[in-house]
Amino acid sequence: MRNLLIFNAMQTPYYLYDTGLLRQTLEVAKLEAQLNGYKIHYALKANSNPTLLKIIAEFGFGADCVSGNEVKIALENGFAPNKIVFAGVGKTDEEIDFAISNNIFCLHCESIQELEVINGIASEKSKKVAIALRINPNINAQTHKNITTGTNQNKFGLTVNEAKYAMQLTSILKNINLIGLHFHIGSQITQMNVFRDLAIKAKEVEKELDPYGKFAYINLGGGLGIDYENPSENSIPDFKNYFATISSIIGKTQSKDIHFELGRSLVGQCGKLITKVIYTKQTDTKNFVIVDAGMNTLLRPALYGAHHKIENATSKEKLRESYSIVGPICETTDCFDDNVNLPTTKRGDIIEILSCGAYGEVMSSRYNMRDLPGCSFLENPETEIAMS
Ligand SMILES: *Cc1c(COP(=O)(O)O)cnc(C)c1O
Repeated sequence: MRNLLIFNAMQTPYYLYDTGLLRQTLEVAKLEAQLNGYKIHYALKANSNPTLLKIIAEFGFGADCVSGNEVKIALENGFAPNKIVFAGVGKTDEEIDFAISNNIFCLHCESIQELEVINGIASEKSKKVAIALRINPNINAQTHKNITTGTNQNKFGLTVNEAKYAMQLTSILKNINLIGLHFHIGSQITQMNVFRDLAIKAKEVEKELDPYGKFAYINLGGGLGIDYENPSENSIPDFKNYFATISSIIGKTQSKDIHFELGRSLVGQCGKLITKVIYTKQTDTKNFVIVDAGMNTLLRPALYGAHHKIENATSKEKLRESYSIVGPICETTDCFDDNVNLPTTKRGDIIEILSCGAYGEVMSSRYNMRDLPGCSFLENPETEIAMS
């Protein structure tokens, strides 16, 4: 139960970020990576809120971008150009031009045609551009099908055979410098054996494509999941186990740059969505709580069938009931969850949807011409709320 006053200061719905938890999470991730000699690039697509980006850049992380605008925002918020990589199956000529002009570290190539385009643009600028080949290792990430990216059914990357051809091609493309390989197989991966399989496969592929060990750079992607069911017990993901699993297969860095591109695991738990109950309504079969946030504010439940822990931050009622928590958007999928057990909930109550730091605010839209959600930051939410 919280003081209602704190919430009245901001127009709901809005994202509330615990920057104290973000810093703690970054600290642990950085330490565990460093113990193995690994480097972390933050995947901006999980959350590109400038306040969070500046904190992440301050910790010395690199940036993993999937659009030209992400490269731009990374540069604007303190990421050094030589720590920025750019992936994506559909990079436009303008985006490639922008990345090359800004001397980023590496472009991750996902098709043969793209190699030729990059070479052409680099040649116009008389530059030699570092690239890595994104390999589709055909590994099932055992996560939701809509966030699986590394099987041969997915549009991402090159097969090993295509990569062999790409390597012959790069040897004659004068403005490209092939420095390594990139893998990324999906998101919200919670089973460590999946990362183990990825590391084994990456090692095999590397040996096959680069028998003399010339590659200076291997990128094993992101995808480490977070605990959506018990966010307060597991507010910081098990980075130790994650890096140890990878390290048990590929070892600590020797001469190579070994990179990871974590998004969700770095920012997922530090954000929550604060929304207000507009109405409650009971039908013959259901108990609805209608809140002022909708699928336009937080898309994950509608897009992936994702479940977030939901709490009533203001109800003082002892009695608990089962609710369907829905938004105001004119779509049936505009439902955050069914059968949510909450203390008796009334109009005006504040509902918190937890673990919304990743793929929340970034996916918000103005569908139904609604306003975009605001955001607020607390270095230590519990004590600041107690003081208010
Ligand atoms: C989305 C993405 C990531 C980050 O995934 P998370 O599951 O958020 O860690 C990393 N690399 C690439 C290429 C991506 O597309």
